[in-house]
Amino acid sequence: MYDVIIIGAGPAGLSAALWCDELGLDTLMLEQSGAIGGQLHSIFNAIENYPAVRFEDGAAFAETLSTQLKDGDFDLWTQVQIETVDIKAKKIGLRSGEQLQSISTIIATGVRRRTLGIPGEEEFTGKGIIESGTRDGDLYAGQDVCVIGGGDAAVENALLLAEVCPTVTLVHRGRKLRARPEFAERLHTNHCITVFPESQVTRLLGGERVEAVEIQRREGIKPFQLAVRGVLIRIGVKPNTELFADQLALDSEGYIVVNASHETQVANVFAIGDVSNPLAPTIVGAAGAGATAAKVIAARLGNRSS
Ligand SMILES: Cc1cc2nc3c(=O)[nH]c(=O)nc-3n(C[C@H](O)[C@H](O)[C@H](O)COP(=O)(O)OP(=O)(O)OC[C@H]3O[C@@H](n4cnc5c(N)ncnc54)[C@H](O)[C@@H]3O)c2cc1C
Repeated sequence: MYDVIIIGAGPAGLSAALWCDELGLDTLMLEQSGAIGGQLHSIFNAIENYPAVRFEDGAAFAETLSTQLKDGDFDLWTQVQIETVDIKAKKIGLRSGEQLQSISTIIATGVRRRTLGIPGEEEFTGKGIIESGTRDGDLYAGQDVCVIGGGDAAVENALLLAEVCPTVTLVHRGRKLRARPEFAERLHTNHCITVFPESQVTRLLGGERVEAVEIQRREGIKPFQLAVRGVLIRIGVKPNTELFADQLALDSEGYIVVNASHETQVANVFAIGDVSNPLAPTIVGAAGAGATAAKVIAARLGNRSS
């Protein structure tokens, strides 16, 4: 029986683990992937908005965290597949057969990118699907590309790619872009970028690699093909809450509902970071939520140095 089991080793879960350790709680952290850090591994630009530190990219941040964790006195299991969760009983069953139990649970499972679910999307992963404008822009220099999405991430990537690509076509479903006005203005005054609002990419086409996208501009109008060599998809994110969906209150978009202590409607079950906070998805916010949850748990258990 652990004091705390933390699910997810992104910035939120890692902060909670460090605080639980400091507060003398017997802690186990479970991470499904082989590496700690979560979305930090998708940040390819400098991180300059976390107080007192600057990192060249998210991987450097994760590396520093990894080193810090080595001094921590808690268990961290990576590449773990959780098969069952009984939220009220705080029992977790792993695919490997272990049955785990804790007094408190902290859910820090974050979010993942939404996918389009269209033909070609899976097939061309790594073969013309652009992961990041910052990291991969140079690989597509001199080639025509398409960006799908109308929010900040899509527009920012379109602007980055327009620095090296002759044409960038931005396709989005809404009538208006959701991106912040300064991004949208830069987009509309950039001669390399064409915007197709109220439109959808319905297929990615090609042989070995992406060669074209099929674009549907309006219902009833025949789709057309546009030759491109790269496609970058940024259509938002989705919370990783499927494991808990029937047992915890979720909001209309599937995020876990919590109170100011980051506690869910089930006593001693907490949700922290992006999985519970769609308004401010930041590393610093995730880390702060981890500290709060750990302190509340320690205070309830009458421990120790809280
Ligand atoms: C491109 C990009 C740039 C960004 N730039 C910045 C920035 O400059 N500054 C900033 O503050 N924020 C930035 N962010 C946001 C920041 O990365 C997130 O807010 C932060 O990572 C959230 O941390 P988290 O721990 O809540 O979730 P995540 O980082 O999503 O971590 C969740 C972890 O849980 C694991 N997990 C999921 N399901 C399970 C399961 N069933 N079992 C076990 N483990 C599971 C995942 O594998 C992952 O490791 C950026 C994000 C992106 C994508």
